[in-house]
Amino acid sequence: MRKKQKTTPPPPHSTNAEESDLFDGLPDDLVVFILCKVSSSASSPSDLISILFTCKRLNRLGVHPLVLSKASPKALAIRAKNWSESAHRFLRLCVNSGNIEASYTLGMIRFYCLQNRGSGASLMAKAAIKTHAPALYSLAVIQFNGSGGSKNDKNLKAGVALCARAAYLGHVDALRELGHCLQDGYGVRQNVAEGRRLLVQANTRELASVLRARSVSPDPGLNGSGCGLLSDFGCDVTEPETHPVNTFLKEWFGSGCDGSGLRMCSHVGCGRPETRPHEFRRCSVCGAVNYCSRGCQALDWKLRHKIECMPMERWLEENNGGDNGGVGGGDGGGGEEEGELN
Ligand SMILES: [Zn+2]
Ligand SMILES: [Zn+2]
Repeated sequence: MRKKQKTTPPPPHSTNAEESDLFDGLPDDLVVFILCKVSSSASSPSDLISILFTCKRLNRLGVHPLVLSKASPKALAIRAKNWSESAHRFLRLCVNSGNIEASYTLGMIRFYCLQNRGSGASLMAKAAIKTHAPALYSLAVIQFNGSGGSKNDKNLKAGVALCARAAYLGHVDALRELGHCLQDGYGVRQNVAEGRRLLVQANTRELASVLRARSVSPDPGLNGSGCGLLSDFGCDVTEPETHPVNTFLKEWFGSGCDGSGLRMCSHVGCGRPETRPHEFRRCSVCGAVNYCSRGCQALDWKLRHKIECMPMERWLEENNGGDNGGVGGGDGGGGEEEGELN
């Protein structure tokens, strides 16, 4: 910062007084344009929120629909401990500005955390219509499980259709889920070869994203020796990146659903809770872990559960579901669903 005499034109870096003059002289649309850049590249909600506290003008222009519509996923990544009515209002403003990511994020929060299933699902649908792959996939999980309803509300065909759309857009979890559905003939006619092809594709994408992460930082400190390739075929896996809203769910529910007897998906990157008792699939070998989807089950098996899965004690204690015991360990597909299979 250098002091300049009044007569010279304002330099790029000037004193406070001159800065505010210069700022006041900027037309609104230029300020909005700059704020759009800030919101689209923000790495946390505070990057955007702190601007609103700077001055009255930025407070007004910072919530301009154009600025909010461009807010990046990280700008919307509110922490569960910071959830408040004003955080809710902020997301709602972003949704109303046409921010698809905000529709998905608020949809998930309303559906699972606030248990406002109707408006949550319709916000997710709003994002899904605009080809938001995670929203398509999350709606697929809801259809597969009949989440928010009874088990008679499961719609496997709808689940597969939503999954297929998300997979077509390159969503790795959806590709993995669809691969397992095809292999198992779950909600779709069995086609083992096609299922395997999709699993290979999921793994290829997984590897590509790991390599991309490594090219950004040579030692991302992810999982030590982990190689991202072929997680569905028994190789080491590097933990995939978690979507901010999954982190939100995990933080919100902590380790369980506050004594309601409802369980969390045991895959650490998921955070989805059950919406009714026994909604999730359970590992048939140990019975100690539960999953919202085949994809979560397969991935968690490779990431950690194959080391932890202890069949014997549980078998002796419970001895229910012995008809398909042993299935879980071998193929990483893990256990069967409680109560019913299809
Ligand atoms: Zn899950
Ligand atoms: Zn197990």
